[in-house]
This record gives sequence, structure tokens and C-alpha cells, in this order.
Amino acid sequence: MSAPLPETMDWSKDGGLLPLIVQHAHDARVLMVGFANREALARTLETGEVHFWSRSKQRIWRKGESSGHVLKLVSIAPDCDRDALLCQALPAGPTCHRGTASCFDGETPAHSWLNELETLIDARASGDPAKSYVARLLAAPVARRAQKVGEEGLETALAAVSGDVDALRGEAADLVFHLLVLLRGQGLRFADVLGELAQRHREDMPG
Ligand SMILES: [Zn+2]
Repeated sequence: MSAPLPETMDWSKDGGLLPLIVQHAHDARVLMVGFANREALARTLETGEVHFWSRSKQRIWRKGESSGHVLKLVSIAPDCDRDALLCQALPAGPTCHRGTASCFDGETPAHSWLNELETLIDARASGDPAKSYVARLLAAPVARRAQKVGEEGLETALAAVSGDVDALRGEAADLVFHLLVLLRGQGLRFADVLGELAQRHREDMPG
């Protein structure tokens, strides 16, 4: 985590307060926006839980201090002129006081459905292997899940070569689903794959 030290931020504007935008670490959905002063940022970095300066309470506010719906810090970074902060976090519950995941209503990023699918796979994982296909796959040795990804990968490739776009869409969906199950079995999430792609993009394709 490349954390900005509070000392490197520009605290000169707005009475020492910086906007702090919080995104869900898995699907990049904006969860909430608040303000941080130097101490709130320091406590966020120390504790790994997101702290704000509450303008209404006029004190440091640890998000979730009363509701328990804390925001676990994954990463935090400054903007270009170091007078705003963007943070990725994992929420322990609904972020908004209305009980919704986000303080903002409306469109979610396209890949957030992948996150929902992963949540569904997580829920099925502990199910009865006799009744749940996902539970059965995850109860089997890794070779079984790997075999499924191999088969679906081949079927996807064959569908593409055949020129049948409907078949390609269907086989690709099967491939992605089984890939998510394979990743989960090995302790990875799709966000880890996206992180890898983003890092390659930064390293290999400057500009
Ligand atoms: Zn809210």
C-alpha cells in the first residue's frame, strides 16, 4: 500500500480538511464521501479503519463506531495536487445510514455483477454438495475445478472459431463462472486479477 503520509498532503485549503472519497475495494463503487483532517488520516493509516472529520459533530469520527459498519482500509492515495484522497475499503455492512450499500443511488459499474456472483459463490460454498453444484465443485480436489476451466476454455475457443456468436457468449459465461470458482478455491478474487491487469498496464504501457 503506497500510503500518503499526512505530511505530504496539502492541508492549506478549507481549514485543513480534505475530501475523502471511499470506493468499494472489489467493485470500485463509490460508497460515500466525507472529510478528513490530518488526524483523521493518521488514525485511518494507524488503525486500518477509515476515520473522518465529522463537520456536524466537530470531532474525529470512526466510520461504524456506533453501527459496527466499519470501513476496512485496503488502500488510500492522494489526487494530483494532493488536496483530495481516494480510498478503497471493504465495508463491514451497509455504508449508508439508510441501510443501503452506498450513500449514492444509481448505476453500478458493469463488473459489480461479477462481485455479486462471487458473493453468491461464497454463499453456496458452504452448502450441501449433494444439492449445490458450486459446493460440489469446491469440495472436490482442485484438479476437478481446473479441468472444468480447461474444458470451458476449449469450448469457448471452438465456439469462436465456428463463428457462432451466441454459442461464444454462452461458453464464455461458463468459462468466467468456472474461473471464479477456481480462483475462490485458491483464495483469490476477481479483484486480484483486475489488480494484476492494472499493474501490468502501469508497468508495460506507459502513456
Ligand atoms: Zn448515506
